[in-house]
Amino acid sequence: MKVLAILYKGGAAAQQEPRLLGTIENQLGIREWLEKQGHEFVVTDDKEGPDSVFQKNIVDADILITTPFHPGYLTGDLVSKAKNLKLCVTAGVGSDHIDLNACVERKIQVLEVTGSNVVSVAEHVVMSILLLVRNFVPAHEMIERGDWMVSEVARNAFDLEGKVVGTIGAGRIGYRVLQRLLPFNCKELLYYDYNALPADAAKTVGVRRIDDLKDFVSQCDVITVNCPLHEGTRGLVNAELLKHVKKGAWIVNTARGAICDKDAIAAALKSGQINGYSGDVWNVQPAPKDHPWRTMKNPVGGGNGMVPHYSGTTLDAQARYASGTKTILENFFNDKPQEPANIIVGIGKYESKAYGQR
Ligand code: NAD
Repeated sequence: MKVLAILYKGGAAAQQEPRLLGTIENQLGIREWLEKQGHEFVVTDDKEGPDSVFQKNIVDADILITTPFHPGYLTGDLVSKAKNLKLCVTAGVGSDHIDLNACVERKIQVLEVTGSNVVSVAEHVVMSILLLVRNFVPAHEMIERGDWMVSEVARNAFDLEGKVVGTIGAGRIGYRVLQRLLPFNCKELLYYDYNALPADAAKTVGVRRIDDLKDFVSQCDVITVNCPLHEGTRGLVNAELLKHVKKGAWIVNTARGAICDKDAIAAALKSGQINGYSGDVWNVQPAPKDHPWRTMKNPVGGGNGMVPHYSGTTLDAQARYASGTKTILENFFNDKPQEPANIIVGIGKYESKAYGQR
């Protein structure tokens, strides 16, 4: 079979660090294994435009492997050109870069390595909440500049204790964030999700569910976004919703960039409607050099904790998603059943309940 993988360029780092498995250099550690079985393995990071290696090779590929960190966007148009395609594997979590509806129609399965990096992301969320609330980034930048003016950074530094924190989406990552926030003695933990948490899970973390999104955001000091990107969440945090956000709230989005409206977020931060925005996901990846989220600031010069998409690709996570990808392929080649939690789209239907209410 022809297996096509769109991975990210690792450069010198990938040559020095073989555990960077998600790169075009280290190829998820599966080249030898695939070739021994007689499969063809094409690996590239060249993914944009009709002349890209991705678009040229998708036409006769049987299996497509992608990663959310450098997404090969499998549009409906490409699905129709991919005549042999039977399986898409996301090496990681989050398959919104694949046109899932088109895959349902064409009976192409979409699997991801569910759970492979949920702890990695939850830890990043907690770190991002703290760095915004405590005004960490401007404080560090001051030190690098050689300055020392405590009042300049303390003027916008707070404690997380006593604040209300809410998650949009209380699935694997959202719930792990709540678990990790427990010792901080927040005033209250809230969640907004059409799938309710089991009662005992909600009780364990003491979280309260709110059904109305505007009501939810108006109560939160910190909002963390942990739902997938789909028709129902694209642009969910937009100018209209931001009007209902508590003035000076902090937003952390490690889910998907396009859940938050790029320009509305930049404007809300600039005006002080929100005090900070942090995360690692962007509406386009790689983000263009002039993307407003790279440099946006609140009125006192801080509130930006943006980084490249890497929270779910720690070396620990890469080991898990590389091994999970291999297991999915192994099951597929040997006609063995897949782990049900990994199946986003099964043959001709959605198996996951997380990509919108259907
Ligand atoms: P999950 O499927 O376990 O949980 C997602 C939850 O979001 C579900 O409970 C679902 O009901 C809820 N949800 C869906 N639509 C919603 C809506 N409109 N409003 C409120 N809640 C909604 O998934 P997970 O493992 O927790 O991952 C969540 C997302 O995080 C992934 O889909 C992916 O986009 C993102 N992610 C990012 C990284 C990263 O490196 N930054 C890594 C892994 C996952």
